[in-house]
Amino acid sequence: MAKLEIVQVPVMNDNYVYLAHDAGSGATAAVDPAVVPPVLAVLEEKGWSLSHILNTHHHGDHTGGNLELKDRTGCTIVGCGGDAERIPGIDVRVGEGDSVSVGGAAGKVFEVPGHTSGHIAYWFEESGALFSGDALFAMGCGRLFEGSAAQMWQSLQKLMALPADTRVYCAHEYTQANGRFALSVEPDNADLVARMAAVDQLRRDDQPTVPSTLAEELATNPFLRPDSGDLQRTIGLEGGDPVTVFARTRELKDNF
Ligand code: FE
Ligand code: ZN
Repeated sequence: MAKLEIVQVPVMNDNYVYLAHDAGSGATAAVDPAVVPPVLAVLEEKGWSLSHILNTHHHGDHTGGNLELKDRTGCTIVGCGGDAERIPGIDVRVGEGDSVSVGGAAGKVFEVPGHTSGHIAYWFEESGALFSGDALFAMGCGRLFEGSAAQMWQSLQKLMALPADTRVYCAHEYTQANGRFALSVEPDNADLVARMAAVDQLRRDDQPTVPSTLAEELATNPFLRPDSGDLQRTIGLEGGDPVTVFARTRELKDNF
């Protein structure tokens, strides 16, 4: 198995496209190419040619570049089989537990519905990289457009079980706003206070706050912490079951 070189491409307001390159085979995947020109620019600069698109879900800010990139490069588009009709140009339909190869690098697919019904994440174990799309963000999670809180909590638990040093490559730079909300529901979390100070500094310096590590998320992301006494107390659900606490936390964030 091979380790991927990952390049982060900031596009539009706050989206990240990732280019993941396997040097041994020359294969290169674009994860959630929202747009085309910045992706082509990086490919040219690096001297890479696009072999795959990996989509996490159907939203336009994740699939907008699919058809033109396929047209220009002949790349293969991988997406959620259960949501195939909404993934432009899909060639390979994948689901829970499937393996996706980018040259010599193998990724494992997790179905993580909640934000959309057909949301998937890609975990490249050898690279220690998780492409989480809009399911898991730095200090946040996706809005529940097409799923219940119970479903999303189940989805997030799959990702929480990955190695703690996994880097989480999410699809948006939402960290600072997420962190402000996180502090409002877990004001006494010292790890969170420290992380937020670091995030504020990065943003002042115009630097990305993504990727983070799963360990950081487990310690500071309120959506992964329904067991936190501080969180439960703050939102008035002391001793509440995880789904209820998660659901209430999501609701509070929607109205924050
Ligand atoms: Fe989305
Ligand atoms: Zn998105």
